[in-house]
Amino acid sequence: MAIATNLGFSRMGPHRELKKALERFWAKKSDAGVLLATACSLRESHWKLQRDLGLAQVPCNDFSLYDHVLDAALMVGVRPGRFGGVAEGLDRYFAMARGVAHEGERSGVAALEMTKWFDTNYHYLVPEFEADQEFRLDAAKPLAEFAEAKALGIPARPVLLGPVSFLLLGKIKDAGRKPLDLWPALVPVYEELLRRLRAAGADWVQIDEPCLATDVEPSTLATLEAVYKRLADAAGNMNILLATYFGDLGQALPAVMRLPVRAVHLDLVRGPGQLREAVELVAPGQMLSLGLVDGRNIWRTDLLAALDVAEDAAERLGVDRILIAPSCSLLHTPYDLEGESKLDGELKGWLAFGRQKLEEVAILARGVEHGRDSVADALEENRVALTGRRSSPRIHSAQVRRRLASVTPEMLARENPYSTRRVDQRAKTPLPLLPTTTIGSFPQTDDVRKARASFKAGKLRPDEYDAFLKERTAEAVRWQEEVGLDVLVHGEFERNDMVEYFGENLDGFAFTENGWVQSYGSRCVKPPIIFGDVARRGPMTVEWARYAQSLTARPMKGMLTGPVTILQWSFVRDDQPRRETCWQIALAIRDEVADLEEAGIAVIQIDEPALREGLPLRRDDWAEYLRWTVDAFRLASAGVRDETQIHTHMCYCEFNDIIDSIAALDADVISIETSRSQMELLGAFAEFRYPNEIGPGVYDIHSPQIPTREGVELLLGKALAVLSPEQLWVNPDCGLKTRKWEEVKPALATLVEAARALRGRLAESPARDRGPA
Ligand code: GLN
Ligand code: ZN
Repeated sequence: MAIATNLGFSRMGPHRELKKALERFWAKKSDAGVLLATACSLRESHWKLQRDLGLAQVPCNDFSLYDHVLDAALMVGVRPGRFGGVAEGLDRYFAMARGVAHEGERSGVAALEMTKWFDTNYHYLVPEFEADQEFRLDAAKPLAEFAEAKALGIPARPVLLGPVSFLLLGKIKDAGRKPLDLWPALVPVYEELLRRLRAAGADWVQIDEPCLATDVEPSTLATLEAVYKRLADAAGNMNILLATYFGDLGQALPAVMRLPVRAVHLDLVRGPGQLREAVELVAPGQMLSLGLVDGRNIWRTDLLAALDVAEDAAERLGVDRILIAPSCSLLHTPYDLEGESKLDGELKGWLAFGRQKLEEVAILARGVEHGRDSVADALEENRVALTGRRSSPRIHSAQVRRRLASVTPEMLARENPYSTRRVDQRAKTPLPLLPTTTIGSFPQTDDVRKARASFKAGKLRPDEYDAFLKERTAEAVRWQEEVGLDVLVHGEFERNDMVEYFGENLDGFAFTENGWVQSYGSRCVKPPIIFGDVARRGPMTVEWARYAQSLTARPMKGMLTGPVTILQWSFVRDDQPRRETCWQIALAIRDEVADLEEAGIAVIQIDEPALREGLPLRRDDWAEYLRWTVDAFRLASAGVRDETQIHTHMCYCEFNDIIDSIAALDADVISIETSRSQMELLGAFAEFRYPNEIGPGVYDIHSPQIPTREGVELLLGKALAVLSPEQLWVNPDCGLKTRKWEEVKPALATLVEAARALRGRLAESPARDRGPA
């Protein structure tokens, strides 16, 4: 039997039921019983769905109320001391996930740090280890969920985050030790857990080691071997499926294939080439799980091509040594395509969400098992849809192709170097020393959201909505003048989201109603789908910029989202290299930039907060990625005259290892997030002697705290220790859309005051005393 299986499923439910239940619980509008009952019924329906689709093994314990890495930490007793005072159970669980706010007498507790789960848009909570960390098993969750599934008659396979990846994903206080050094203490806990699962009746367990798709040291592979030898002993006759995903195993492949596990799962979407070697190395009696259905994207699988691969493997190994699965957990794909009523039939025919992907898995398993005839109809339907996609005029625009082909090196560079441009820019747009500005958005208050919802529901007429937005924009402009900011923004009130707004105005993009994927905790995102060649239908932001500029004599910043960020935060077509799609977007943005300039906008910001997070998992692949992404930004931005000032903005950015690429963007001004790290991040810019202007954030917009004048001046002082005053801008860390006006107004007033005070002091001191030596 070829076993049809899955590695993990979305937790949210078809209509984000989990999100809603969590948020009601946090708001104290419901109790724990309601939340847990919702969770339980979601698990049940997800399991039944998977079983009914024909999966012979269904993952369990992949569910999480917040995050599976947090679950793993608690399962092995990793709980930092600061949470000791919080009541055990859900309170403590959510305290670790979200922190506890400071309230009256009670001081707050900081949440665990959150960071990206490999190169996905999912974020996990980082386990914090003590130097002498002890581990203690709490098997309640995996055992309970397995028992739950078993009672429902589900052929359940518990999923565990593997000990090696778990340690590598964490951080340790003691600088002299590495988390992986803790493995001898951790392994007994996993051994005990495996014995308990076996005693509970599990005949398979899935252990995930996604770290194997990243660059790992040879010593890590030695640890892996030692660990899995012991885990295999403890598992006894319970089978271990070792799951790797998100990429090719590369040099780790031989070591992985030597592990004494019953089956190894390979991501054959991202790493198709590794199958050949794996088939050669697989031990007699060992099985391979073929990750043939893309768990990271929303396109239908080419079933005939996938079947070729599966049949070939089955021929060499025997069909009973094969599992068929998605490439990775379906956590990263939306739930079900069925409910999408607004996508047209043709486009829908090209797509597969979680549920459809499992149907594909089942078809492939049946196909290898019983021959192609047994699934002939499904294969034919798939073939017709994909042939249609390939040749559809909707995705190919000769004009876009021609334009892309005619991009010249000159188009990627400004006419003159920054030092020359600066002079023209200051002549065109005079600015004081230490100019003040903001990053773009102003508070998206309830009334703004409500107006948008009413407009979308047809309850507010377009002209009414427009008038409302204009009023908000005018208020924001007036207020910025009053408070004394130097470079103003229009406030982005008309934008729902910085990517969606542009996608809606570009050809080649589609939007779903319910295509949500979890970003972290209860937060989900609904990425647009880039299905075809991208082209601008017309100006996207010019009217708003022009209107805002007409209200003031001060410079108004045009505000755009960059091509890399638009790419990164969308589901991207899989029928051409990402670079090509990115450059198509870049050309559209380039036209927008030109139109803004034409409309008299002299300062244009192109946000690229996602540039760094798109870095490939393996270091060897960085240079190529950085080359085409930097060029995409330059293609988007370099078409302007010298006198036009180009800004870019990045948040959450660690720049040390990519600072030369950041400089290569050649933006006249970059704003970055630095206030939380107390300007630590500036180090990279200082060492590199970053040549252009830079606005290190001095207002932490993630916090409701209003910065003090002393605090801002202190940060600016730190910045001036490494930058020259001519280079320095004064701005918040990021956009202000999540903040309240009550916070934003005093905060920006403080920021302006601090800048003015410092300006005064700089004017008094002779130039030679200024800035770094
Ligand atoms: N211009 C955007 C804003 O201010 C930038 C947001 C971001 O960097 N994430 O909202
Ligand atoms: Zn930002």
